[in-house]
Amino acid sequence: MTPVPAPIPPPLAPASAPPGETAAPPLGTSDALRVDLDLVRKYNVPGPRYTSYPPATHFSDAVSPEQMIEGIRANNRTAGELSLYFHLPFCYSPCWYCGCTTVITPQQSQSATYLKYLDREMELMGRLLHPDRNVVQLHFGGGTPTFLLPDEIRALGSMIHRRFRLDPEVEAGVEIDPRRLIRDHLQALHEVGFNRASLGVQDHDPVVQKAVHRIQPFEQSRAAVEWAREVGFRSVNIDLIYGLPHQTPESFERTLDEVLTLAPDRFAVFNYAYVPWIKPAQKIIKESTLPSASTKLELLKLTIEKLTGSGYVYIGMDHFARATDELALAQRSKTLQRNFQGYSTRGGADIYAFGMSSISQTGDLYWQNHKDLPEYYGHLDREVLPLARGYFLTEDDRRRRIVIMRLMCDFSLDYAQMSRLLDVDFAADFAAELGSLADLEADGLLRRHDGGFVVTDLGRLFIRNIAMRFDAHLPKETERRYSRTV
Ligand code: SF4
Repeated sequence: MTPVPAPIPPPLAPASAPPGETAAPPLGTSDALRVDLDLVRKYNVPGPRYTSYPPATHFSDAVSPEQMIEGIRANNRTAGELSLYFHLPFCYSPCWYCGCTTVITPQQSQSATYLKYLDREMELMGRLLHPDRNVVQLHFGGGTPTFLLPDEIRALGSMIHRRFRLDPEVEAGVEIDPRRLIRDHLQALHEVGFNRASLGVQDHDPVVQKAVHRIQPFEQSRAAVEWAREVGFRSVNIDLIYGLPHQTPESFERTLDEVLTLAPDRFAVFNYAYVPWIKPAQKIIKESTLPSASTKLELLKLTIEKLTGSGYVYIGMDHFARATDELALAQRSKTLQRNFQGYSTRGGADIYAFGMSSISQTGDLYWQNHKDLPEYYGHLDREVLPLARGYFLTEDDRRRRIVIMRLMCDFSLDYAQMSRLLDVDFAADFAAELGSLADLEADGLLRRHDGGFVVTDLGRLFIRNIAMRFDAHLPKETERRYSRTV
């Protein structure tokens, strides 16, 4: 069932190269290869990943549940589109690199209890929702969504369909752990309406797998991809991580070669966020076994070269897609969006998230559920929404969110377009931020021109650093809050 890989398309010029500007060379060639260690040292500083702005570290319990509920009510005065996220936190065993909010347990029966609480949460939230809202996006994340038994997946699907109106063209993605997966999991997910599967692979090297406590032979990954296609998923993504212990360019190239034989539609190749001060389980990984910053950059360059040379477009910030994939098409038409689930083509929809620790987002409000299971269950037992922390965006936040999201998605800023989008004189209002780009330009990370700037291929590797220049919330001391940008 594995399809033949598509022919290699010509590399794309940056989506936004202005008239008269020479397009940067294709990713993975000259610019990226000229990166020297000094540049890595200079820009390898802690920084947010900007799946939200401001980042979740700014959410606060000073925002009361009553204020959040008022914000939710205000958001439901009209019937805007919805994106639903369900956090399914259970995993059988911990992977030592993991940064997700999980519940590690061998007791499969826990998921049945959790589903009852999810249903209660949907019921309580449903009382606040405008009845005509259309769901255009659905996502199951975790944890391990396939910790649920196939029939539990069907039951959760029925709950969702009972309480929400799903658009016939809904984009429905689910995170899959190929270990312990059976074909019926995927069959059940497809019956519920899922059409995009994202498989956790990370690395196939046995030494790396042992060091991160995740043993997953290639055969398991291959079976998962083949089953997903057999049951009717229209898109398969593979997640890899670079920067794991003992990884070398040689070992990671073997992993890349193996997974390329599966011809996925997309890749997400994440930079490993080593944050043991936030995730104590990561302390098991000895820092001395991690690749150095320069080796990590080599791993990233290798990945970009290998995947762009095999028919994939570098979307940016860890993501690759076939040139014909809707992510690549959306980037070319400047309609790509970025949210907590990564890049998306469905912008504008409010994200309503369910389950412990999940984060919701509307035009002017973020809110996050309680992060531990007893608290989450306790609130729902008392028939109240498990809202823990929130953040109301100011006008300035909303503008900066648009600037940073356009930058992360388009890899350019056009001042006239930004002025229209923000209803301000962009070049004047952001003169200080734009003036601060001189060193980035001198280092070859971007090129300014009359009316805007374009991020170079080299600059794409450091896009977080460029975005940070537009962030008004960056604390003076970021060292302990964020992972490093490279
Ligand atoms: S990486 Fe995935 S499977 Fe492993 S502990 Fe984290 S959420 Fe669970």
